[in-house]
Amino acid sequence: MPGRPRKPQGAWRARLLAGALAAMLMAPAAAAVAAGAATAALAVTEVRPGVFVHFGMLQDWAPENGGDVANLAFVTGSRCVAVIDTGGTPAVGEALRAAVARATPLPVCYVINTHAHPDHLLGNVAFRSGAEPPPRFVASARLAPALAARATSYLNALARDFGLRLEARDLVYPDIAVERTAQLDLGGRVLDLRAWPTAHTDNDLTVYDPQTRTLFASDLLFVRHMPALDGSLRGWLAAMAELRQVPASLVVPGHGPADGDGRAAFDAQFAYLDSLLRAVRTALREGLSLPQAVERIGVPGGAPWLLADRFHRRNVTAAYAELEWEDNAPAPSPPAPAGPGAATGARP
Ligand SMILES: [Zn+2]
Repeated sequence: MPGRPRKPQGAWRARLLAGALAAMLMAPAAAAVAAGAATAALAVTEVRPGVFVHFGMLQDWAPENGGDVANLAFVTGSRCVAVIDTGGTPAVGEALRAAVARATPLPVCYVINTHAHPDHLLGNVAFRSGAEPPPRFVASARLAPALAARATSYLNALARDFGLRLEARDLVYPDIAVERTAQLDLGGRVLDLRAWPTAHTDNDLTVYDPQTRTLFASDLLFVRHMPALDGSLRGWLAAMAELRQVPASLVVPGHGPADGDGRAAFDAQFAYLDSLLRAVRTALREGLSLPQAVERIGVPGGAPWLLADRFHRRNVTAAYAELEWEDNAPAPSPPAPAGPGAATGARP
C-alpha cells in the first residue's frame, strides 16, 4: 500500500471513536485476550519446504486490523533464517517473530524490507531487540532516504490512529543497502535479491529463492487488492515485464493470495496499470485538468479490485502528475485505416 497515512476525517474519525468506545466497554477477560494477542504467533503457511508466508488481510493499514495487511514471510536455511517484511506495527513484528520461533530453532540472520511502506516495515523493531547477535537489516539502497522522508508521518499516524507512541529510533533502517542485486546465504540456501528502478515506489526490492523457485514479488504485484501507485507507472509496467521472466513456480505478492506462477495475477495487474496509462495519456492530450481526469477516468472493467474506492482516484492523480511532463507525448492517433500498410501509431 502507499505510504502517506490518511488524515482522520469524517466517517473515519467516527469509526475511531466507535472503536475506542468498544475498547472501553470490553469485558476484562476480552481485554486480557486482546493484550495477549500481541505475542501470539502469526498464522503462517509453509508454501514450499522451508518457505513460510503469512497472508495479511485484504484491507487498508488501519487500527481495526492491527496493521496486519501485508504479506510477510520467512525462509529457513541450514544455518539461519531470513525474514521478508515485518508488518505494520511492532506487535505484528512480535507475532511474526513468535511464528519464526515456533517453526524453527534457528536464529534470524537477515530481515529484508521490500520497500518503505509502513505496513511492511514497522514490525522491524521487534527483530532488533533481544537477539544475539542481532540480524542484519537489508533493503534497497533507496529505502533509507524514503523512510527518513516519511518517518514523522509514520510516527504521527501510529500515535493518532493506532494509539502507539514510537520514537524515531524505533524505525529500523537497513545496514545492508542493495544497489542492484545481492545474495544472502542462509546455509544451504542462497536468496537472490534485486532492487528495482522506481516502480510501485522508488525503493522496491524482490527476493527469489531458486531452490524452491519462489518469487517474493513485494508490492510490485498486488492480487485482488487494487494496485497502489506511489512511484512510476511507466517504471512499474517495465518492471513487471522483467519480473515475469523470473522462472518462478510460486509468486508471493505483497498483498493477496499466492497462486502458482502468478501469470493470471500479472495479467490482471498489467491490464489495470496499462489501462490507467492509456486513459491518463488520453486525458492529457484532450487537455483535461487533474480534477477532470480524476472525475472522468473510472476503474476499467475486467478483474474486480478490492479497495478501488480508496486507491483508484489516487492512482489517477499520481499517474497524471507523472505523465503530465512526459517527453515526446504522442500526437492524437487517428483511427487506423483498414488495409495493408496501415499505420498503427500504437504506443506500449
Ligand atoms: Zn507498498
